[in-house]
Amino acid sequence: MYRTTHCNALRKTDIGQTVKLAGWINTRRDHGGVIFIDLRDREGLTQVVFRPEEHSQVAEASHGLRSEDVIQITGTVSARLPGTENARLATGDIEVIASELVVLNKAEVPPFPLDDPKVNEDLRLEYRYLDLRTDHMQRNLKLRHRIAKTTRDFLDEQGFLEIETPILSNPTPEGARDFLVPSRLTPGTFYALPQAPQQYKQLLQVAGLEKYFQIARCFRDEDLRADRQPEFTQIDVEASFVTDGDIQTLIEGLLVRIFREAKGVEIPAPFPRMSYVDAMNRFGSDKPDTRFEMELVDLGGIFHESQFKVFRSVVDGGGVIKAINAKGSAALLSKEQLKKWEEWVKTEFGAKGLAYIKWSTGGEWESPIVKFFSESEKAALAERMGFVEGDVLFFGADKWQSVCEVLGRVRLRCAELLGLLEANAGKLNFLWVVDFPLLAFSPEDNHWVAVHHPFTRPKAEDVPLLDAGDFAKVRAVAYDVVLNGVELGGGSIRIHERDLQARMFEVLGVDAEAQQIKFGHLLKAFSFGAPPHGGVALGLDRLVMLIAGAESIREVIAFPKNNRGTDLMTHSPVEVDFKQLREVYIQSTAKKG
Ligand code: ASP
Repeated sequence: MYRTTHCNALRKTDIGQTVKLAGWINTRRDHGGVIFIDLRDREGLTQVVFRPEEHSQVAEASHGLRSEDVIQITGTVSARLPGTENARLATGDIEVIASELVVLNKAEVPPFPLDDPKVNEDLRLEYRYLDLRTDHMQRNLKLRHRIAKTTRDFLDEQGFLEIETPILSNPTPEGARDFLVPSRLTPGTFYALPQAPQQYKQLLQVAGLEKYFQIARCFRDEDLRADRQPEFTQIDVEASFVTDGDIQTLIEGLLVRIFREAKGVEIPAPFPRMSYVDAMNRFGSDKPDTRFEMELVDLGGIFHESQFKVFRSVVDGGGVIKAINAKGSAALLSKEQLKKWEEWVKTEFGAKGLAYIKWSTGGEWESPIVKFFSESEKAALAERMGFVEGDVLFFGADKWQSVCEVLGRVRLRCAELLGLLEANAGKLNFLWVVDFPLLAFSPEDNHWVAVHHPFTRPKAEDVPLLDAGDFAKVRAVAYDVVLNGVELGGGSIRIHERDLQARMFEVLGVDAEAQQIKFGHLLKAFSFGAPPHGGVALGLDRLVMLIAGAESIREVIAFPKNNRGTDLMTHSPVEVDFKQLREVYIQSTAKKG
């Protein structure tokens, strides 16, 4: 037996007992020949003391111990000397006087001080097995386990079956590039790693399993600029004979349970519902952060007869004029900064510009456009926007979508500048965004694409619009769950009729032949009695990150890739030799750089 208990177990009531502990040396201090060690295991720390006057040989051996050595000790639990107790440690009232020491393994000096928050992330990733020894990483992984376990318990109680689906599968359109795996047995063919188990989970409904879930690994070959990973984990759910409301209620129940068990907070359910159009109109985002206001305000009514040509032509051309009031930001935004923000919206979002009016306390309105406004427009504007000294107004005038998106981004940037995100960090604002458009026109592809994926059901009352070719107006029975401006997940009620699915593919530019090749199995399955069904998927990594209060999903994944898709510890991806490639009928065209 290596140990009788762990390093976070011993208390005053254990004084006098003989115990065995095993773990790593967290810290070692030499107080005039007496060696003090904080012994660490997964559960915590216990102070171990080596006293030369009591066990001289063991004490002698303890002089050779270094941080991160793995040891086993036997000793007697004793009270710490009065005044030396450590209230911050659960075991802080006691120490173990060592009578035996076994060095299980020596450690090299670690390449960085563990638990130093300033350590460079690349170094942490290279030595991930050391980084994972730190208290905060262990806490994050324990939390992740708790959330996964709660998910399984909850969904099991609700009658859901956990069913695995293939990793070597067919491409499924979720909007990203596929990772491909060449087949050795069928030369020239490829598997795709699943972007999501979407088609399989629907086929499980056709199969009559009725309630499926999986904590599913998904793979998307995307540019990793944002906080993304090429492989990530979803809580994936699908059920038969359900409405959108049923799925939403189920997920609310799951999130209530997760937040209760993993964070100890009660979140109120049901969550508010907001239509996609409202979310865009008011917050400039389909994942609105509703913890603070600064809403987008429509100004079309004020400027519909304006002499200001730019505004007038937008209104006449069917566009919109909107503004936000960044209250109290005038003192924080210099002219140079406003110029930089303008550059930012131009380069990042292709906006034509970012008009503003800044009203410094005790000053005049400063603005490149205000000279074009009439007195009555100015008065109406100030009133509508609640514009007072100290504020800055930002304007957007263009097509609806682009105005909303740009002002939505400016709104978030203002919130950051004004410290609104920090001030509201304690809030948990959940909501469902519903009534998404089913289709969007992609100018690059020059055809309509699915906003979610091609299996999403159009709203019954909008099917005539689909038939009439009025695609932009068709809404989907789709829903996203959002927390504090982060999309936690989304799903939809699906198409379960063969003909409607084929029609949908047609709208998306997939002709009958391509439908057979890519989706023949699904269309065929739908002709054998497919029940009405729907589902949802939640991003597990993001959920854990938010509950942990971590800055990035890399902090809640044991072995993540960096933002170039590389595992710095194993150096994956690696080159493979010519022979291995030949076996799978592949020849690389990459130039060695
Ligand atoms: N498969 C979808 C996704 O991964 C979720 C769903 O529709 O259930 O986003």
